[in-house]
Amino acid sequence: MSVERIDFVRQLLASQGMDALLFFGLPNIRYLGNFTGTDGAFLVTPQSTIFLTDSRYQSQAASQVFADQIICYKNKYSGIVDLLTERKITTVGFDAEALTVAAYEELRGQVPEGISWVPLNEELKSLRATKCTAELESLRAAASLNQQAFEQILPMIRPGVSERKIALALEFALKDLGGEANAFDFIVASGERGALPHGIASEKLLAAGELVTIDFGTRVAGYHSDETVTLALGEVDGKLRQIFAIVLKAHDLALEAITPGLPICDLDAVARDYITAQGFGEFFGHGLGHGVGLEIHEYPAVSMRTEAPLCEGMVITIEPGIYLPGIGGVRIEDTVVVTAGGYSALTSIPKTFRQLAVG
Ligand code: ZN
Ligand code: ZN
Repeated sequence: MSVERIDFVRQLLASQGMDALLFFGLPNIRYLGNFTGTDGAFLVTPQSTIFLTDSRYQSQAASQVFADQIICYKNKYSGIVDLLTERKITTVGFDAEALTVAAYEELRGQVPEGISWVPLNEELKSLRATKCTAELESLRAAASLNQQAFEQILPMIRPGVSERKIALALEFALKDLGGEANAFDFIVASGERGALPHGIASEKLLAAGELVTIDFGTRVAGYHSDETVTLALGEVDGKLRQIFAIVLKAHDLALEAITPGLPICDLDAVARDYITAQGFGEFFGHGLGHGVGLEIHEYPAVSMRTEAPLCEGMVITIEPGIYLPGIGGVRIEDTVVVTAGGYSALTSIPKTFRQLAVG
């Protein structure tokens, strides 16, 4: 399962002239070694793979982890140092993003002279960027739970119900259907709160004439779903109808523009330029989307700053929004996989304007 993944790391080792690469980040460790626990480290050398963990995970690791050797340490950093010394490793790269400055200082404090640490960041970005068939299956399964859970709770979305109750019902439905955990704190933002791009569900009650934005997701086999719907509670005023139509068009234009090789910043620009041309550019303050996988937000950021091209197999969100302070907001989000011919959507809740009955 992980041969290609380990090969990627070994090619990196060779190109960087390092003896070994040490992974601290749990998503990376899971990706490379299949470990689902909460503490460990994974070392890749040109010849072998070694997983290190503490005694709590000894038996779990033995039955779960793909590695040539499993080491149980008493103290994480001295365990790592002992291994590096024993293997005569002098230049070791590591996933810098996964280590806090404090942890790095502590580790360096225990390392003997002569071992040099090379922080890697950009070099590792593409490690998990394109998804294999098995990963896509999990991502699709997670997205399908979104659709099923949403159908279940749709009848309760009506005036008088609190945002929190909706978030709770979604959480229950997703877990009941088999979801492992919430992908993030769900956003349920109605009325004026819709202008908050990250309006975590509050005690506010939904009211007729409002839009409500619901952003939610779950996890299957470690892989996340992420999707946003904006619904109308009965008749809403013309301004809200207008921004809904603009956001939906920006979303559709971006989806249609997806193709391997397109610079990611250009994809962001497709949606942004359209929203700007309609006069609402200053109210779309975030990037168009993000990569999704073992982490809910991972490489690539779909923003004006990412110059790298889209690649077949990347899984990204497309989530333009317009947020008008004091009035309300709209965001529409789908998660898609980049294919040779364009894209295939993983999420499946309809995104066209939907006006719920409020009677
Ligand atoms: Zn989302
Ligand atoms: Zn998202």
